[in-house]
Amino acid sequence: MAESNDKTDVMEAIISLCKRRGFIFQGSEIYGGLAGTWDYGPLGVALKNNIKNLWWRRFVDGRHDMFGVDAAILMNQNVWKASGHVSGFSDPLVECSKCKHRFRADQLAEAGKCPDCGGKVGEQKQFNMMFQTHVGAVQDESSISYLRPETAQGMFVNFKNILDTQHPRLPFGLAQIGKAFRNEIAPRDFLFRAREFEQMEIEYFVNPKEWEKSFEHFQQESKDFMADVGLDGSKVHELEVADGDRAHYSKRTIDFEFDFPFGRKELSGLAYRTDFDLKQHSESSKVDLSYYDEESKERFIPHCIEPSFGLDRMLLAVLTDAYKEDDLGGEKRTYLKLSPNVAPYKVAVFPLLRNKPVLVERAQQIFKAIKKEIPATTFDDNGNIGKRYRRQDEIGTPFCVTIDFDTIEKNPPAGGGVTVRDRDTGKQERVGEAELLDFLKQKVV
Ligand code: ATP
Repeated sequence: MAESNDKTDVMEAIISLCKRRGFIFQGSEIYGGLAGTWDYGPLGVALKNNIKNLWWRRFVDGRHDMFGVDAAILMNQNVWKASGHVSGFSDPLVECSKCKHRFRADQLAEAGKCPDCGGKVGEQKQFNMMFQTHVGAVQDESSISYLRPETAQGMFVNFKNILDTQHPRLPFGLAQIGKAFRNEIAPRDFLFRAREFEQMEIEYFVNPKEWEKSFEHFQQESKDFMADVGLDGSKVHELEVADGDRAHYSKRTIDFEFDFPFGRKELSGLAYRTDFDLKQHSESSKVDLSYYDEESKERFIPHCIEPSFGLDRMLLAVLTDAYKEDDLGGEKRTYLKLSPNVAPYKVAVFPLLRNKPVLVERAQQIFKAIKKEIPATTFDDNGNIGKRYRRQDEIGTPFCVTIDFDTIEKNPPAGGGVTVRDRDTGKQERVGEAELLDFLKQKVV
């Protein structure tokens, strides 16, 4: 079986599959779209929730030292002043004097000339990437707020609430999954660079003497999480970010890069943020954000290790990694080789023929029994069986269960049973009805 992923238009094929099968649509599509926004359909939501749940299971539920948080997207503007985002979260851009379009100076094909209308571009200026809005009816300086450009600050400002209510001992972390917004000047590469996206972030607080140990721990955990979602480890690369290239608050950063079809690009980050954020917020809010260490009898501001994942970027990596084209039984097919951990549906159940009530009834019974134990199970009796297999292949369903006349006519243990087809090989095997649930659960749960 040949697999090929070397098509140059593989991204187009993936975007089209996503739309055709209800994974992801262009945001506000019927109005011509809104650049940098994407809407998830039923299969996309399922895939995204599976990735989120794996993350939450590994980093929150699977540990004793992590606390979940779900902070508001709109925050007091002083948060962003203290964090440095109001003054520093910007891209250097030039603006065309004629059409007002903005570009990065280093990306102009012809220096000083607008690539859209040929007009003259002005001096390079800093353009802040935060979406600004006003809270309440009055639009003045005091009512300014921003759509958060990262989830991290929602955790720093709740640090004291967690200390006071959960009484944790260092090291411990806060974890949050939520939307972030950046007015990216050039959203591109499908979900890779969007203006509205989701992040999965952890702020892990440590004694500064021990930051290295936690940094290395999360370096390994990050890789393990990528394996949880089924990413091919050989496409993941660690890049030690050099001194001059790190964010202002970071003393060490590793970017995890991934081989996307459009090149090797940042997938997630791991940063040692020192005590920068808590210190800034402590000074700015005048609220003491220090921690008292019972053992050493010392009071200090904890330091912070931040593993930060872009959920949509992770989902894009999963999709591009899983997208395959091959020949099966002399026919070309497209399929998503998704790990059962993330596949929107784990099992599909079919009656061999849709016009035989006896088959349909039995298939529905079996479907209901499987769905009780494996909720991500679907039923399909549309079109012929070959078409159904291809449809499930295309959305990455690892197993198809077909109910045929043998299921009905022959009684177990001698006969009966159903066929279970494997998505990747196309091979079918006969499995007794009594064993079916265990057989499937072993493979997908
Ligand atoms: P980039 O250099 O690609 O702009 P960044 O270094 O600014 O990313 P961080 O601020 O570290 O990114 O954000 C953490 C994670 O959030 C990134 O690793 C990425 O997965 C995700 N992310 C950041 N910006 C976007 C975006 N515009 N669209 C989708 N995901 C994003």
